[in-house]
Amino acid sequence: MTTAAAPPAPLTAAQVSARIEAAVSQTFRDCALENPHDPATLSMSGLGACARRGAYQIARYAPTNPGAPEKRAADLGTAIHAWLLPRLATTLGGRWTSIERDVVLTTAHGRIPGTFDLDTLALAQSEDADAGSTLVDVKSVNRGRFDRVMATGEIFPEHFTQNLGYAVAKTQQGRPVQWAAWLYLCRDTGRTRTLTLEVTDELTALLHARVALLYSYALHPEFAPREERGPGLSVVCDGCVFLTRCYGPTAVPGQSGAQSSLAASDPDVVDGARRFTEAREARLQWERIEKFWALVLADSAGIYTDGEHSAAIGYHRGASRPDQAAMRQLLEQHGIPVPYTRNRPTMTVTLNAAAPPTEENPAP
Ligand code: SF4
Repeated sequence: MTTAAAPPAPLTAAQVSARIEAAVSQTFRDCALENPHDPATLSMSGLGACARRGAYQIARYAPTNPGAPEKRAADLGTAIHAWLLPRLATTLGGRWTSIERDVVLTTAHGRIPGTFDLDTLALAQSEDADAGSTLVDVKSVNRGRFDRVMATGEIFPEHFTQNLGYAVAKTQQGRPVQWAAWLYLCRDTGRTRTLTLEVTDELTALLHARVALLYSYALHPEFAPREERGPGLSVVCDGCVFLTRCYGPTAVPGQSGAQSSLAASDPDVVDGARRFTEAREARLQWERIEKFWALVLADSAGIYTDGEHSAAIGYHRGASRPDQAAMRQLLEQHGIPVPYTRNRPTMTVTLNAAAPPTEENPAP
């Protein structure tokens, strides 16, 4: 006689959530495998990114880290592109518009590949075959980055170089590009802001100067500037395939701390102290300016526009928080000892000019 197996225990709500989360994670991992790219090769999107990473790529250094197994932000960006670009091409005039084509930028130092988003002749003033086209690079960004674009009207440097690279590459291939446009799209709200520049000889020269700089860094990549702030502070470093080569063997994606490996000698520490002091002075200076303008705007609640920007000024009542003085009084009234804890340790940094060298104490 066989006994029937006991039915599986019913899932809890937490287990159902966990299984869905695991499936989502697996989906993003599968996606990363479906769309592999060589993280050790410099492409157009890397031209304006971290200079040290670009130098490692050009010098063909072997990756030391596998990189992030999931690339959620990039995959979501790809999904937005897949939805938007064909529709935008149709709206602009499908006959005159192409999307997602490979190009190669040829420079005095090497060839750099890339894939542009959208190129259209629909905005050209004439139908002449030599009329310059408009190259649109869609940048789907989070709300914080989008707000920065709205507030400053500026293109992020890494995006600037990337689209300019596509434009110059396309012009080199015989189809001149007149306008480079950066279409910023807020992932949270769908709001957009397009910033457009004419592709001039000056901008082309800037692009070639950046390429030349990266190739010069590639001669000695360990001397190239780190243009990201390291693990735990920069998502770029967290996903960088050169992380431990750059920040040392203790570097772990997502965890800060390996930054201390940069203070390896007296000059390194003094340099760090100098930069720390400069940053502190800059912060204090900006805080003073901020305080002044807060007073200027103190009685201006409302929405204003000057035709170019709009400004919404609002005031929030401060959030309620524990009244420490009243709490202490209560405890003391009831004879309960006031509990103490320690503040987090703080660091003091004082930068002084070194004493001039003497015979007894020559310069190091
Ligand atoms: S770890 Fe960060 S700073 Fe170093 S090369 Fe990579 S992106 Fe640049």
